[in-house]
Amino acid sequence: MRCHRCRSVMAYERFYSLDEHFLGWRCVLCGEIIDQVILENRQTKRGRLNREKGENVIPDGTRWGGE
Ligand SMILES: [Zn+2]
Repeated sequence: MRCHRCRSVMAYERFYSLDEHFLGWRCVLCGEIIDQVILENRQTKRGRLNREKGENVIPDGTRWGGE
């Protein structure tokens, strides 16, 4: 798992909120946090957009390359 912001290594950890906990990935360098829900939303959004525009699937990393 690589951070989409800085391409550093991400650690799989357990996070706690007020009334629940979840498992997700945290970047050891910039602190970016990604959990399963975020990943699924991102996949769904990208898939819908691609279908609407009739474009091919964009490989991971391309859309974030310039940021
Ligand atoms: Zn990062």
